[in-house]
Amino acid sequence: MNPLFAAQPTSIFEQMSGLAREYGAVNLGQGFPDFGWPDDVVAKAAEALTTGSNQYPPMRGLAETREAVAAFYTRRQGLAIDIDQVTITSGATEAIAAALMALISPGDEVLMFQPLYDAYLPLVLRAGGTPRFASLTPPDWRLTEEALAAAFTERTRLVIFNNPHNPTARVFDRAELQLLADFCIRHDALVLSDEVWEEVVFDGLAHIPLASLPGMAERAIKVGSAGKIFSLTGWKVGWVIAPPALAPTIAKAHQFLTFTTPPNLQAAVAYGLSKEESYFVAMRAAFERARDRMAAALAEAGYAVLPAAGTYFMNLDLAASGIALADRDFCEGAVREAGVAAIPNSALYAQDAATGTIRLCFAKRDETIDSGVERLARARSLFA
Ligand code: GLN
Repeated sequence: MNPLFAAQPTSIFEQMSGLAREYGAVNLGQGFPDFGWPDDVVAKAAEALTTGSNQYPPMRGLAETREAVAAFYTRRQGLAIDIDQVTITSGATEAIAAALMALISPGDEVLMFQPLYDAYLPLVLRAGGTPRFASLTPPDWRLTEEALAAAFTERTRLVIFNNPHNPTARVFDRAELQLLADFCIRHDALVLSDEVWEEVVFDGLAHIPLASLPGMAERAIKVGSAGKIFSLTGWKVGWVIAPPALAPTIAKAHQFLTFTTPPNLQAAVAYGLSKEESYFVAMRAAFERARDRMAAALAEAGYAVLPAAGTYFMNLDLAASGIALADRDFCEGAVREAGVAAIPNSALYAQDAATGTIRLCFAKRDETIDSGVERLARARSLFA
């Protein structure tokens, strides 16, 4: 048995969803919406299932899907992408795994930012990379020159960067992106840019793809997710877009992980990616409204809510909410005694975990938000 994976905990998202099922809790933990997906995209998948092919699609994905991905980014983000740069994967997590397997050799240093998505570190280690960490610190969670200077070395081969950022809900500004780009260029490092939340940004913000910064097109490997773009997280359709020199090797890693991704879902995603701007405006507005409803109700209940500029998530500052418990203790108590599940952010650190914040998913219907907040209010009365 491989000791690395044997020693890994079950993912915190799975753990909390399991507890939510066990205690009949309102699940504000794992990040999935309970409303908001486009019925026509689902209908397209159903149609493709009955009238289209159910046999292996091409290894790198259906041509129509790869073309749709490239056209989507040209239209929405101004990126020039050739379809040879695009590989369709079984979710963004597979895209990340394939990219790491393809790009990392033993001894290469891989820089990650804490708190970090839970799949990054075990995949980096399995790929033979040597992890290094820089931390984002609440309540601002900003990328700073000091943190980057301390973390980059002459052996830094790859940076894993996530923007918009899960779990902090930060959308990094252009100055922060430029700072990161400067360090990558100076150290000749690649960036695995996990941009799965690119369409889930609020307050009129526009997503800035890292590849659009000067000098970054040849060193940024962009990962995207149809699950996040269309609020269909169970579909597990993602993609990786790499510079031409790197794309074929990443595709070869993908061919030995899953080989392909279901053709019917790919066809529906190709259809969905051609949606008009109005679709995305409405999607953001609906989630922004949910965010505002939850934030206002939580503030009313005495919680200190941190700003949420993107993703499905908002964070609560426990100490500032009058709660002296560490995040994990609070989350365990809240799910068992108050019937509401959240994510303790300390589970998303590899070292020196900060234990003062918890993450809530606000991409929910009004009823879900209202009963979740009511239960969080009860949790606060139990533990404050
Ligand atoms: N991306 C989702 C989240 O952050 C969870 C994905 C998963 O459960 N593996 O909640």
